[in-house]
Amino acid sequence: MEIGLLDQLIKSFAKLPGLGPRSGRRVALHLLKNKRQSMLDLSNLIKLVAEEIKTCSECGNLDVKSPCGICSNPLRDKQIICVVEDVSDLWAIERGEIFKGVYHVLGGTLSAIEGRTPDKLNLPNLVSRVDTNAVKEVIIATNSNLEGQTTGFYVADILQPFNVKASRLAHGIPIGAELDYLDEGTLSHALKMRQDY
Ligand SMILES: [Zn+2]
Repeated sequence: MEIGLLDQLIKSFAKLPGLGPRSGRRVALHLLKNKRQSMLDLSNLIKLVAEEIKTCSECGNLDVKSPCGICSNPLRDKQIICVVEDVSDLWAIERGEIFKGVYHVLGGTLSAIEGRTPDKLNLPNLVSRVDTNAVKEVIIATNSNLEGQTTGFYVADILQPFNVKASRLAHGIPIGAELDYLDEGTLSHALKMRQDY
């Protein structure tokens, strides 16, 4: 019985991004060696985060409150929206500490092959934000791979009827790269040198 339970735990870890069966075993063993502290503390923290973290109703960011800390910060410029695929991209740009606008998290990319159609993305909310908040510029910071570019063109297209400048990140970001893997310098530079869509 005990083995089955432990196997379940290892399998759960092995499914996490970046881990596999071997890392899953290592993590489980590491935690088991210090059950009282690491394991119970971690399980309490996971439970707390699961209960407390909300998706921001404005931008789709994850935070303990909605609207999130960025959307509710009076120092952030609400007239510049940076559109990203995922929260990990938002975090990557925030690490660069140069962007002072707000974000819009799409929650993925369009993909004909995987059946991800526009209705699967957080798009209607973007249009209503642009429409009601006198937004001056939308920076489309989707990844530079095929799906990211397709999504970027689509976003630029639906913004066309509105009086808003659509820009994209400058080149310098390697083709096929994911924002989350770039260093802050490259990403900050690309953001500064952004071009019209
Ligand atoms: Zn927000």
